[in-house]
Amino acid sequence: MSVKPQDLNWETLGFGYINTGKSFRAYYKDGKWDGGQVVEANTITISEASPAVHLGQQCFEGLKAYRTKDGSVNLFRVDENAKRLARSADQVMLPPYPEDAFVEAVKEIVRANEEWIPPYGTGATLYIRPFLIGVGDIVGVSPASEALFGIYVTPVGAYFKGGLQPAPFMVSEYDRAAPRGTGSAKVGGNYASSFKAGKEAQVHNFADSIFLDPATHTKIEEVGAANFFAITEDDVFVTPKSPSILPSITKYSLLHLAEHVLGLETFEGDVFIDQLDHYKEAGAMGTAAVITPIGSITQGDKKHVFYSETEVGPLTRALYDELTGIQFGEKEGPEGWIQKVEF
Ligand SMILES: *Cc1c(COP(=O)(O)O)cnc(C)c1O
Repeated sequence: MSVKPQDLNWETLGFGYINTGKSFRAYYKDGKWDGGQVVEANTITISEASPAVHLGQQCFEGLKAYRTKDGSVNLFRVDENAKRLARSADQVMLPPYPEDAFVEAVKEIVRANEEWIPPYGTGATLYIRPFLIGVGDIVGVSPASEALFGIYVTPVGAYFKGGLQPAPFMVSEYDRAAPRGTGSAKVGGNYASSFKAGKEAQVHNFADSIFLDPATHTKIEEVGAANFFAITEDDVFVTPKSPSILPSITKYSLLHLAEHVLGLETFEGDVFIDQLDHYKEAGAMGTAAVITPIGSITQGDKKHVFYSETEVGPLTRALYDELTGIQFGEKEGPEGWIQKVEF
């Protein structure tokens, strides 16, 4: 461990890996999980024949710990991450990690890394990355009988340093997942297969690529590794629905806040790429990006600008303020959304 928490500048911190020195590990063998423990290592040793290495038999989660004004530490809907990891595990035939043990492991590793939780007011957070991988000696194409559940944490800076900024996106020619494939599971193969699309977008000076539905290529599905929303001219919050979209916890939270706090109508359904002029605002949603306002979407030689390429729309900003207000403990959220880490 080279960097120490006191060496970091929380205001300028980016989204890179910093080794905090403490991680969580649990093993599954002979049909059961061990109790798991905090280890002082950021490496793992597994068989070179592990299916996670060759066959992509793995899945993961991403969430954050938020330091609040009174110094306490919030987790946002961690029980939903526990459930989603179990669903992803099922999709690739990994043994699920028990949901209550998942929540306890997250709390334990956050406690063990207390000094790495960024202070309130900097916008920085402690990113938490649970993962579940198939391990053991497997030569053929078949699932592992052993598994490793791990968690690493790393402090990350505010996504937007100078406040919310709209970004330009381009429609990709590639698909990220098959119509009846693994798109709704947080499994590694979906991401390796999206790298080329992301690179192509960057080369053309876009923030990221937009994926259309893999069956008809007429509807928006995902924005890079985030979900999509748009606001219609008459104030309806719209987000795509499809079996190949990853069900974002941020998305379901914003659907709730849009309806119950902002009083908007909401709709989960088709968002056709040739009907973008029905929408006055748009954004990408996920734990890492929080809400990224979408300034424009380009497809081939057609470019659609939403609210503005430089200014954030008022409803996008209101949604952002509600969500981050709850996460950082400035606003009361719905029952059960926040769990405190007790020290
Ligand atoms: C993780 C992820 C999201 C965001 O999910 P959250 O639960 O909101 O963090 C959206 N799309 C993809 C493809 C993802 O992997």
